[in-house]
Amino acid sequence: MKELSSIAAAIQPSATLAVNTLFKQMKADGLDVVGFGAGEPDFSTPSNISEAGVRAIEEGKTRYTPSAGIIPLRKAIAARLKADCGVQYDHTQIVVASGAKHGIYITLCALCNPGDEVILPGPYWVSYCEMIRMAGAVPVIVTAGEAQHFKITPEQLEAAVTEKTKLVIINNPSNPTGMLYSEDELRALADVCVRHDLYILADEIYYKLVYDDNRFVSVASLSEEIKERTILVNGVSKTYAMTGWRIGFTASNPEIARVMSNYLSHSTGAPSTISQWAALEAVNGPQESVEQMRRVFEQRRTYLVEHMNQIDGVSCLMPQGAFYVMMNIDRLIGRTLGGRVIHNADDFAMAFLETSLVAVVSCTSFGLPNFVRWTYASSMETIQEGLRRLEAFLSE
Ligand code: PMP
Ligand code: GLU
Repeated sequence: MKELSSIAAAIQPSATLAVNTLFKQMKADGLDVVGFGAGEPDFSTPSNISEAGVRAIEEGKTRYTPSAGIIPLRKAIAARLKADCGVQYDHTQIVVASGAKHGIYITLCALCNPGDEVILPGPYWVSYCEMIRMAGAVPVIVTAGEAQHFKITPEQLEAAVTEKTKLVIINNPSNPTGMLYSEDELRALADVCVRHDLYILADEIYYKLVYDDNRFVSVASLSEEIKERTILVNGVSKTYAMTGWRIGFTASNPEIARVMSNYLSHSTGAPSTISQWAALEAVNGPQESVEQMRRVFEQRRTYLVEHMNQIDGVSCLMPQGAFYVMMNIDRLIGRTLGGRVIHNADDFAMAFLETSLVAVVSCTSFGLPNFVRWTYASSMETIQEGLRRLEAFLSE
């Protein structure tokens, strides 16, 4: 038989989803495993939102919708972006996709020609890299280590720009680092993009999960000039605990929105109708649950970070947003743990899972091989148990 597409054959499976699948399988096999793998809120979808989904089914809202989504939802998203981010979009500039992940993918497809370069700050969420390749483009990684709080500088960005650069991805707050760019830092990065005529894919899916007195600023709110070249990506998965409903969206200039809508009309057709009606209630309805969940995440973050830093051999920074912690394992390299010599985070994650039955994500596939990502989108009891097992594992 003839060979498969060389682009498709080179794509690696998602490391975060792989950990999640393994965790669920081990649990189903009756093992006492605790999970800090895939980042998804452990809360149930608020009942007013689920009820809106049920109502949609009962009212027969079960047919195809326009490819970019139902108009009431697109209008509600535009109103929410205005209220929360201070950015004005017409509903025709909003495109609803089957998850923010899909919104990112169609953005890349809409913008990139084969061989175009996409600048990706590292450490990065694993799916960006593969989606860039899936769109036929080339990821150019710019790495920011722990010493610079995992945030790239405008000088680093400038140095990575070539004639082939089409866009830059800015994920703020960041998965996997939990770091937040300040308004000044964002402006300095955006200025480089304006100067070199680059698009900005601004993934702001964690915008509601910001802690202490830190303040989130949307890239698109910085100036009209910046907004014109920015494709905002957001969604309901993290803000409203709706990961399984698969609704995300983009906001962009009308031309990009039109191209993405055409793309959708031939790929998914449209996002799930039932989920769109539920998402309308999420975006339009009472917002109290968002703040309640944020507060719980904040408490867990503080607990996890403070206790992790008391354990000998590992350390982590205090993140300002999202629900992830990057654990530094530099001091464990070369040690033998659980019968395995630890050369990198892959070895650590495997040994920790096999020996202590704790699932964490190695940051090798995020571009930083000496870090392990924990999510605190898990209960306080789970966090306490995970830390107890970490301490026991390291003192063996
Ligand atoms: N962007 C980032 C940074 C994420 O962490 C996630 C979560 N998987 C997504 C996008 C995609 O979210 P979803 O497809 O569930 O809307
Ligand atoms: N964003 C989450 C994570 O990074 C969900 C899994 C995924 O889609 O990658 O763990």
